[in-house]
Amino acid sequence: MDSKNLPYIKYLTDNYTADPSFRRQMQEHPQETLTSRGISLDADLALDVCARLCWDAQYFRAPEGQNPYLTEFQAHFQRISQEYENRVTDDAFADRRICLWSRQIRKRCRMENRRIRMRDGIHYYPLFFELSDGCSVQCPFCGVDAPRWKSDFLYTPENAELWKEILQICVRYLGRIAGTGACYMATEPFDNPDYEKFLYDFRAIIGILPQTTTAVADRCPERIRAFMRELGPDAVQNAALRFSIRNLQQLHRIQEIYSLDELKDIELLPNNPESLTQYSLSGKGIRLCERMGEKGKDKFFRYGICCTAGLRVNMTKKTMDFIEPELPSKAFPNGYRIRETLTFENAGDFETGMRHLFETWALPELPEDKDLYFNSVCRITEKENCIEFWGDGVGCSLAKDGGFPDAVRIISERPTTLAAVYRSLSAENGDALRLWQKFQYLYERGYVRWA
Ligand code: SF4
Repeated sequence: MDSKNLPYIKYLTDNYTADPSFRRQMQEHPQETLTSRGISLDADLALDVCARLCWDAQYFRAPEGQNPYLTEFQAHFQRISQEYENRVTDDAFADRRICLWSRQIRKRCRMENRRIRMRDGIHYYPLFFELSDGCSVQCPFCGVDAPRWKSDFLYTPENAELWKEILQICVRYLGRIAGTGACYMATEPFDNPDYEKFLYDFRAIIGILPQTTTAVADRCPERIRAFMRELGPDAVQNAALRFSIRNLQQLHRIQEIYSLDELKDIELLPNNPESLTQYSLSGKGIRLCERMGEKGKDKFFRYGICCTAGLRVNMTKKTMDFIEPELPSKAFPNGYRIRETLTFENAGDFETGMRHLFETWALPELPEDKDLYFNSVCRITEKENCIEFWGDGVGCSLAKDGGFPDAVRIISERPTTLAAVYRSLSAENGDALRLWQKFQYLYERGYVRWA
């Protein structure tokens, strides 16, 4: 952010989103609120930015498209979004099949949940690392239900060597897309005293600096400042660092510890209970929702918080899980399913395991020998000439020709392989192929899945 106004706008919007008493002050006395904080901005325009970013229509104060603060603020974030979009293009994948499968996962998640569909910036990445076993923070809203911290993967000479070999394998096998995940999932990056060393190796080998989100920015400011210096202003401006805000006191502490200038490029994620942010109804959030009762009624919604579609590698436990994002449910309370877990001792094991997992589970084409079932969100309606398949506010229809209606009925009744469907309908050659093509169409969009 170059403009002198942007740090102030960011400060105001951070507080407006996170702190209800600040929000009230801004709404009722915008000029006095700005003056008391030493901010010389136009009060109506400042309130308009806050209100528009929070969809608070009664406080809009400028005609649509005519707030220069908002234009500047949005241009800044659009530039960052574009940087991230450039990282996930098809040519970032070394393997076309993994790319296709990854696109299908995204289509499915967007079909399952309209609010995910409204956010174009949500992608699913094929590789995440964890550099600790568990997380010391234990946020009450943790959507992936991180277990308690037990130990860290330290930067010993042997561990550093293994780490570098694994990164080389990943970038060779996956391509540049390997750099789009992160070096944490159900972990807090700064729990690990050597986190930065691992990250700098990652940047050197994969050529991309993954994002770091920390929930303990107030615990180790000098360490974080040193980290920001090492990243450099360009990386920080490209949202390389985010602070998760667990409670209001922490927000205020962070705003005391770090200057406006330091915070201007750090995205604050207001996860405190009073904020306007909604929690995922998954992981620890399920228990928190129960505890909050009526007060939590608008605070939660059902969406998967996990953006891994591929490998989660825990370097401490030496495990690799093949993960797919899921809408949180009784079967998948943490918003993801683990298809298979392998362990590794060395880089050779890792490479063999990685290939096996992607070749087994990342299938862009519908297998004929696996049980198929309809996605639990999929509603099926039979019309005169077609069958409609509906997800969350989006749908498609397919002609009712050949054995298709019977095949849909068979698979709706119980999970069945396509091979068994062909047999039961005596569908051979061209008929079988036409059935496969229709189910493939549904599979690519997430309406049909395989067990
Ligand atoms: S949200 Fe992040 S920091 Fe908080 S418990 Fe979960 S993994 Fe740890």
